[in-house]
Amino acid sequence: MSTVRIGIIGIGMIGEEHIRRCSQVLSGAEIVALFDLNTDRANDVIAKYSLDAHVAESAETLIHDPAVDAVFVTSWGGTHAAYVLEAIAAGKYVFCEKPLATTVSDCERIVAAEVDGGHRLVQVGFMRPYDSGYRDLKARIDDGTIGEVLMVHAAHRNPSVGDTYTTDMAITDTLIHELDVLRWLLNDEFVSVQVLFPRGTSVAHAKLKDPQLVILHTKRGVIADIEVFVNCQYGYEIRCAVVGEKGEVALPEFPAPVVRHGGAISQTVLMDWKKRFIAAYDTEIQDFINGVSDGKLRGPDAWAGYLAAATADACLRAQISGEIEPVSIISRPDFYKH
Ligand code: NAP
Repeated sequence: MSTVRIGIIGIGMIGEEHIRRCSQVLSGAEIVALFDLNTDRANDVIAKYSLDAHVAESAETLIHDPAVDAVFVTSWGGTHAAYVLEAIAAGKYVFCEKPLATTVSDCERIVAAEVDGGHRLVQVGFMRPYDSGYRDLKARIDDGTIGEVLMVHAAHRNPSVGDTYTTDMAITDTLIHELDVLRWLLNDEFVSVQVLFPRGTSVAHAKLKDPQLVILHTKRGVIADIEVFVNCQYGYEIRCAVVGEKGEVALPEFPAPVVRHGGAISQTVLMDWKKRFIAAYDTEIQDFINGVSDGKLRGPDAWAGYLAAATADACLRAQISGEIEPVSIISRPDFYKH
């Protein structure tokens, strides 16, 4: 395929970011069709990026448009499953932002539909495996530098969230990235989870329990503790330290100049996710475009989306029960044993 013609559903924050990178940064793709509930917004984005594209009548029309080779689903999470299933039915490649679906049963439906179709069509927007920091960590784990892995200490901090962000979203919207990347990093499966609530911050709104501490146990006995703190005030920060028998590997600080001034040494901390993973998003989307072009997707698959959803489901149960909850996983179809 020469140029991959992309149709995109949902032109919010990340949808626009992916349009910008496809039209201005990456190669081999063009945005040809857009759909958003807000048609004015779609038209504004076409004008802003000077796209040679049209606004589709509906998401379904866009998916079935013969001029669209691949679909991006970047609308709200609750809409993902229907659009991904429609794309599979149309035989179209589809890049779906996380989460693949908001329920485990919908993820299972997507997996079953893709397996039935017999050709891999779905890539899930888990971009951390494309981040150079995480890739370096994985290389050091895989080459035995730190010996057998014993523990992981991780943290996901945001400066603040809006008042529509609820306690369960700390798992389904935020922790979901850690659930995917840690499984990939450790090449291990989660078997049980526990969620602890320390003293809550007074800054969070009344319905949000913040912070949370999630404890994950893996099949090989590794324990990972992950802090999710979405009103930490000072900035956006992702931490991950993997402790092994012979040493530790940890993500580097995000590079920023060290300033010496006024009797202090300081370094700026990012305030949102866009810059932290900007290079990873570029690599991720370029990989999807290349995969569509040569008919072979390589990025996180629908099975990865299902595993993250099933683990998130156990975390949601653990939030309520306060107990250690098992992660139950259906048996992996041979289709995903690559
Ligand atoms: P957003 O800014 O709210 O954008 C969502 C867009 O989709 C809005 O323009 C919304 O229109 C539109 N929309 C809603 N329902 C739709 C439907 N049924 N059909 C078509 N368009 C619809 O959200 P966002 O932050 O971009 O997030 C979108 C998705 O990307 C979420 O699943 C989120 O978890 C994921 N995400 C991933 C990352 C990452 O790091 N990988 C980062 C950010 C977001 P209205 O505003 O009119 O409702």
